[in-house]
Amino acid sequence: MASLTLRAIAKSFGKVTALAGVDLHVEEGEFCVLLGPSGCGKSTLLNIIAGLIPQDQGSVVLDGEPVDRLPPRDRDVAMVFQSYALYPHMTVAQNLGFGLRMRRIPKQTIKNQVLEAARLLGIEDLLDRKPRELSGGQRQRVAMGRALVRRARVFLLDEPLSNLDARLRANVRLELRRLHRQIRSTIIYVTHDQVEAMTLGDTVVVMREGRVHQIGPPEKIYSRPADTFVATFIGSPEMNLHRGRLVRKDDCLHFQGSGFTVALIGLKPGLQEGEVELGTRPEDIGIGRGDTTDLEGKIEMISDVGSEKYIHARVGQERLTVRAHKEIAYCTGDTVPLTIHPGRVHLFREGLRI
Ligand code: ATP
Repeated sequence: MASLTLRAIAKSFGKVTALAGVDLHVEEGEFCVLLGPSGCGKSTLLNIIAGLIPQDQGSVVLDGEPVDRLPPRDRDVAMVFQSYALYPHMTVAQNLGFGLRMRRIPKQTIKNQVLEAARLLGIEDLLDRKPRELSGGQRQRVAMGRALVRRARVFLLDEPLSNLDARLRANVRLELRRLHRQIRSTIIYVTHDQVEAMTLGDTVVVMREGRVHQIGPPEKIYSRPADTFVATFIGSPEMNLHRGRLVRKDDCLHFQGSGFTVALIGLKPGLQEGEVELGTRPEDIGIGRGDTTDLEGKIEMISDVGSEKYIHARVGQERLTVRAHKEIAYCTGDTVPLTIHPGRVHLFREGLRI
């Protein structure tokens, strides 16, 4: 196991800037998730760490030692790709041991390491089977196992669950988390799925267009997004954002949007009046009258996801999504009183959290 540090990693492909100076430190044993929309540079970064693509600038450091000059096999990192191809003519055991055989590791050591990895992943019973005799989830575990037997210093996983259906994905996600608790290896995991990132990562790195927007534990990324991109990228349904002005009235700051006003409490001292964006999560808006806001929403649509409902309402010229109990009796077209929880709003100026 090793710590990983990336220093100002930059990479372009012709005119496309894939990475524009990425700095990151991952502690030994940490589960770090790189999260961002398609094309933001996640896979490129993983390939650079593995040594499969050279960076234009910057440095990859493992345990304090730059590894930029080392070829992939000497970096001692293991990678699991999105399209994990198992060798169809080999058994699970042979697939697991393949990388070790290529490294001319003694047979008995290979056998032991294969068994240990199989035990960790709960696939001991499958060792004599061929890949075609396995389910998707089992194949995925074998692919993970192939990386695990290597006992690499860092594991790099590039969307390893994307070929699985939603239910299996959720199960394997839990297994992966459990597995990480047991082996405590350093993992860099790439995904564009925020649920996966939030449930797996000790740390989440939110990226867009080759840049890092925020690094932090999942709860911090959710509760204190650094900018409007992170605020709206994380959370489903996404955060409501409204343009307006911060104004001081009776010694209290108010947000004045188009068609509604919210009194704000618990803000940082010294905030200046002026243009801002107000962010509210759907769960931080209550149905009913409150002391601090007096909003009337006209319900345009209700989405029912079974466990709860989402009310999509119009307030003034703005649209809001509100999380509601599954048994609410409102219908489309109704008017509903709404209260924004004043201590749970997010304020942004020029896109950045204030
Ligand atoms: P996805 O989630 O879709 O896999 P990603 O975040 O992993 O996306 P990358 O694959 O790292 O994104 O790509 C980052 C940018 O670099 C994209 O604009 C992509 O088109 C470009 N790119 C990546 N590899 C190459 C290449 N070999 N040649 C040219 N452009 C490339």
